[in-house]
Amino acid sequence: MDAFSLQRADDIDAAIAAAQQPGAAFIGGGTNLLDLMKGGVAHPLKLIDITRIAALGNIETLPDGGLRIGALVRNSDAANHALVRTRYPLLTQALLAGASPQLRNMATVGGNLMQRTRCAYFYDTAFAQCNKRAPGSGCAAREGFNRMHAILGASAQCVAVNPSDMSVALAALDATVQVRGPRSARAIPIAQFHRLPADRPDQDTTLAPGELITSVDLPPPAFSDHTHYLKLRDRASYAFALVSAAVALQLDGQRVRAARIALGGVAHKPWRASRAEQHLAGHTLDAATLRSAAAAELAQAQPLSGNTFKVELAQRAIVRATMLAAGSPVTHISGINGTSGTGERA
Ligand code: SF4
Repeated sequence: MDAFSLQRADDIDAAIAAAQQPGAAFIGGGTNLLDLMKGGVAHPLKLIDITRIAALGNIETLPDGGLRIGALVRNSDAANHALVRTRYPLLTQALLAGASPQLRNMATVGGNLMQRTRCAYFYDTAFAQCNKRAPGSGCAAREGFNRMHAILGASAQCVAVNPSDMSVALAALDATVQVRGPRSARAIPIAQFHRLPADRPDQDTTLAPGELITSVDLPPPAFSDHTHYLKLRDRASYAFALVSAAVALQLDGQRVRAARIALGGVAHKPWRASRAEQHLAGHTLDAATLRSAAAAELAQAQPLSGNTFKVELAQRAIVRATMLAAGSPVTHISGINGTSGTGERA
């Protein structure tokens, strides 16, 4: 780990002022940044400890009926807050699917948004080729071990995926990220907060240098009654998603009035499944409709040598999570890509 200086900030203005120099970085829970520093991947010259800023640690109702979750709220506290559990159960489910209890007790909501995309070649400096860590060096994953990597929205430069469960739920819930910079504050819709890699895979978000996340705002709850977060992974806990699906529905009986669906583990950012949503809106939830909605979303998939299985897995995740959100028993899901199987396999 390289040498760095540490400055503690007592309020938001002091934190932002301290961050206006090259090489400065904010630190909250530190559950990702410290790993990156110890591994020689991140080299901040100065850390600004924001954990003493009380104004960033609140959960409060907004005048429009929405909910503001401060950037320093711990993941476990956000998941278990009464207003989150009752009004945004999708967020609670996603938060509790992430990491381990110890990490959730330490990690913050703002830090969860800022965690870097996951790729073994990025985290291991023994590999010279990684456009995210060393721009212009190439991408070892494209022709290497890419089972965990992207099937949607990738570029020739990078095929890494965003690892956050929380952010997938926030994408489905149309959250807004509130940030403060040295001159002004701005609100960034969650869909515009994380980036696809394009030709700048070194940039995971649209946050400008020196800007501080102050809160995540949720709109008034309109999708509380029918939600489900489904995380498919290699082991039951403490594993990143191969594919995840966050689904929130408004139903008239079995007819879908509106659907919000986002996928995790498939792209450089949480992937809003707009095509699937459009296919479901106004239709009765039956197997054929669900399968065609999932197929429409994944028609744009471009799998790599090691993750073709994710194309079908993502479709099954959409189907299963939507059925569970609707309260339908998941007994048999077949016909996706001409294959058959049970929901249990997904
Ligand atoms: Fe680096 Fe992205 Fe390629 Fe992984 S996928 S090696 S993070 S450029």
